[in-house]
Amino acid sequence: MKKSFLLVVTAASLMVSCSTPNNSFYDSTFELADVQLLEGPFKHAMDLNLKTLKQYDVDRLLAPYLIQAGLEPKAEPFSNWSGLDGHVTGHYLSALAMYYGATGDEWCKERMDYMLSEMKSCKDALGNGYVGGVPDGQKVWDEVRSGNVRILGKYWVPWYNMHKTFAGLRDAWYYGKSEMAKKMFFDLCDWGASVIEPLDDKQMESMLNTEYGGMNEVYADAYAMSGDTKYLDIAKRFTHHRIFDSMLEGVDNLDGLHANTQVPKAVGFERTSEMLAKAGLPDEATEYNKAADFFWKIVSQDRSIAFGGNSRSEHFPTSEQWLDYIDDVQGPESCNTNNMLKLAQGLFRVNHDVSYADFMERALLNHILSTQHPEHGGYVYFTPARPEHYRVYSQPNSGMWCCVGTGMENHAKYGEFIYAKDGDDLYVNLYIP
Ligand SMILES: [Zn+2]
Repeated sequence: MKKSFLLVVTAASLMVSCSTPNNSFYDSTFELADVQLLEGPFKHAMDLNLKTLKQYDVDRLLAPYLIQAGLEPKAEPFSNWSGLDGHVTGHYLSALAMYYGATGDEWCKERMDYMLSEMKSCKDALGNGYVGGVPDGQKVWDEVRSGNVRILGKYWVPWYNMHKTFAGLRDAWYYGKSEMAKKMFFDLCDWGASVIEPLDDKQMESMLNTEYGGMNEVYADAYAMSGDTKYLDIAKRFTHHRIFDSMLEGVDNLDGLHANTQVPKAVGFERTSEMLAKAGLPDEATEYNKAADFFWKIVSQDRSIAFGGNSRSEHFPTSEQWLDYIDDVQGPESCNTNNMLKLAQGLFRVNHDVSYADFMERALLNHILSTQHPEHGGYVYFTPARPEHYRVYSQPNSGMWCCVGTGMENHAKYGEFIYAKDGDDLYVNLYIP
């Protein structure tokens, strides 16, 4: 296996750029526009995925937002995965922004701007900063605000769903350079703050038993974008202590848990750690980094199979249940690896240890690249290790699984981790042309 090389600045680094400005949002990271993929399987996947994205009906994706805002939808909402209405829409917005950032593709920019203007109409109609596709959204969030956090369970996973809208707006700002998205992102952050503000710590912990995606991550991002510590405080409030405290103590308590509910929490621990350090709180930053790093170590090294994926039937097996991987028709889920890569990349930003880059290489080449059909571009949910089994691919405007959402993004940002930088040092992390 190759190792990540730290190069003394020589002609090699000049081939990338010798005048790239510092990225103030993601430390050590090149912007997507700085790195162009050359011919090979990754470029093929990236180009094919753009063709796939262009086949989606954006008005159908946006319909849940309009319905929740009391506006007339311009098309029928998708019928599958109802309850999670709008979650793929957030991923789609992220993917368009990433493609625009990476390639300058004008179609992506136009479609991104169209989505933002439609979402702004929804936001304006509601008037409280909220925009989202969660069914009965206003009722659900009013109930949560009043302390009835159990209502979330009746509506599947509303915070998980909302996280995709938060992240879509953030990405439309960061990758897509949209100031309108930034304004909507902060309005949404302030709306979210008003929902959890009345809740005490016990109610928060109870609420966080229900999958909530990376809500801690996006509030840490809001701090990174604004320097306003109120957002960093909210990122900390989205700390699920059942997981965080155990990780901090170095105790693996993940047996039997729903895997992709947990990974984004650790992504958020890591991002919160980065921002605590920037806020001049090194002790807390160290704690959050320690929890994130322990999570990453046990999942990447003890709980993943050879190709870098984890979970069967979406859950972490106990050590006695590992043979399930041979039998189960639902092998490692694509979303989990998408999030584990995010975690590894975040940890690498802080500590340029080669083990994170090795995991990136292993999981990108062996799992993520294979989650796309190489001809028609459909996305895979599960990658079973069951001998002679098969995989199921989505079709545009049909499957709306979680892994379709993360799948839309996966192939857009291969260029982000190939190189990294720190001062005058250049890191070559991935051998991708
Ligand atoms: Zn998934």
